[in-house]
This record gives sequence, C-alpha cells and structure tokens, in this order.
Amino acid sequence: MIIAIDGPSGAGKSSVSRAVASRLGFSCLDTGAMYRSIAWKALQEGVDLSDDEALGRIACTCKISFGHEPGDPAPRYVYVDGEDVTTLIRTAQIDQSVSRVSSVPQVRKALVAQQQRIGSEGNYVVDGRDIGTVVFPEAELKIFMTASPEVRAKRRVGQNKRRGVSNLNYEEVLADIIARDEQDANRAESPLRAAEDAVLVDTSDITFDQSVERVCDLASLRGMA
Ligand code: C5P
Repeated sequence: MIIAIDGPSGAGKSSVSRAVASRLGFSCLDTGAMYRSIAWKALQEGVDLSDDEALGRIACTCKISFGHEPGDPAPRYVYVDGEDVTTLIRTAQIDQSVSRVSSVPQVRKALVAQQQRIGSEGNYVVDGRDIGTVVFPEAELKIFMTASPEVRAKRRVGQNKRRGVSNLNYEEVLADIIARDEQDANRAESPLRAAEDAVLVDTSDITFDQSVERVCDLASLRGMA
C-alpha cells in the first residue's frame, strides 16, 4: 500500500511522512532527497547544470541508498555511492540548484523508475511533487499538503538552524521558496500539482501533531491503518 504525499517545499511533508510511517508501521521514502543527491553529485563532479545529458548519466549511474537507526522504519541517513550526504544535500547551494536538476526529463525517468521499484517492495509513505500523479497514480491514499509561503519560510528557517546547514535569513528563504514553487509548478516535465483524487491538507494553521492525526485518520478511513 502507498500513501502519496505531494506538495510544495516546507509544507511539512517529510516530517509528517516520517511520523505517519512510524505510527502505521510503514516504510518511508523521501524522493526530494533523491533529487538533492543528484544535484550534490553533479556539483561535486563539476558538471555544468545546463548539460541535461550529463545530469541524466549521473542519475542513471550513481547509487543512492538510505540508512536507518535500529527500530525506526523511516530512514535517517542518505548515501551517494557510499558517501554519507545526509547534511550535505540540505545546504542553500543545493536548495538553489535542485529545481534545475529535477526539471531534466532523463533525471526524472531514472529516479521515478527507482522510486517505483522501492515502493513495490512494501507499504510506503512516499513524499515528493509527482507521487500521486506520476510515480504511484494508483496509490491508495493521496494527500496534497500545503501551507502559505510565509509559514513555510518560517519553518524552514527554524529547521535550517537546528540542522546547522544554512545562515539564510527569513527574507532570503522566503524568496527561495517562492522561486522554487514557481519552477516546480511551471516545468514541462511532471509539474507540481495535486492529483484529481488527492485530499488537500493545509498545515498553515494546524500543529504538526494535528497534521499527522489528519493523515492517519484518512488512512484509517481507507482501511490502511
Ligand atoms: O522535498 P524537497 O524540498 O527536498 O525537494 C527538493 C526538490 O526536488 C524540489 O524543489 C523539486 O524540484 C524536486 N523534487 C521533484 N519531484 C519530487 C521530489 C522533489 O521534482 N518527487
């Protein structure tokens, strides 16, 4: 069974997905981490980000894997060709490059195939931008999670501080979020949009626990919990 959670950056998808997965005993797949990993590898190798072929080659050849803490179904670590990139893929530089990388059709084709293979191996909460529309159009539950850009920017600043990965201030993060939304929603290949049968969850005015509760209730209504 698949719970697909799509939506813009900073709406709470990843943390809600992790909590829902551990409540329901599902595994969890953060597809944004996969696009970030390709962006990291490309920058690491000095690849020109306008070179679609080179980016596609990286997506086809580099090995992305996830590491768990014992007993936790949600992965905590991300590896690219064996190197731990968990924090390296969360920097402002990656934030600013990843939308370009994820707009390349060859990259999407390679990563979507990997995501479908992983998801076919068990019960998964999968979060991203095109999960309910492209990757798992038959998902048993589809959520479109959103929040106002201002709320998302505020949350992202707090998250960056806790992770110690970026010193961007609120205005800079807000500008990045708006630019990324724009790119993700307007790209030709798999743009960010809600699936027709997705349930909208706006987290602007509800707490994290309430967001988790809402998704678990919807899963329960569909006989998944
Ligand atoms: O979710 P996160 O902010 O980590 O995603 C980083 C970027 O990866 C997004 O801005 C988007 O460009 C891309 N992405 C995507 N499709 C997905 C997941 C992420 O295009 N399924």
